[in-house]
Amino acid sequence: MAYAYDDQNIFARILRGEIPCDKVLETDHSMAFRDIAPKAPDHVLVIPKGAYVTWDHFAAAASDAELADFTRAVGKVAEMVGAAPGAGGEGFRLIANAGQNGVQEVPHLHVHVLAGRPLGWMVQPR
Ligand code: AMP
Repeated sequence: MAYAYDDQNIFARILRGEIPCDKVLETDHSMAFRDIAPKAPDHVLVIPKGAYVTWDHFAAAASDAELADFTRAVGKVAEMVGAAPGAGGEGFRLIANAGQNGVQEVPHLHVHVLAGRPLGWMVQPR
């Protein structure tokens, strides 16, 4: 498997503290911050602190501790924005774009947590 990680990508720079972010949550292995161009009233990006490019990279190479931490961080963010159905929220959507067809712009794994309004079709028909 070949995953070339570009350590100059914008999320790597956020993790190193070189550029600011609107932080929502930080855990041992993960960080969450608000998207700079929100597509919903709540739009938070959750990223692992490790150098992983895509979901498949993370799934194949991350430790169990990183996988568990990241999964729980995503759930926690949904709760924090008040969207978790199990806590009375009205729901949310997770998106993890990967590669060219996924139209991934930033080559550091991130899960979009979108909430705060009805989100419509999962994917635009075309
Ligand atoms: P993707 O197409 O899945 O790679 O999405 C990348 C996301 O990163 C987009 O929704 C951007 O608005 C967001 N983004 C880019 N730069 C920043 C930044 N400096 N802080 C927060 N979000 C960002």
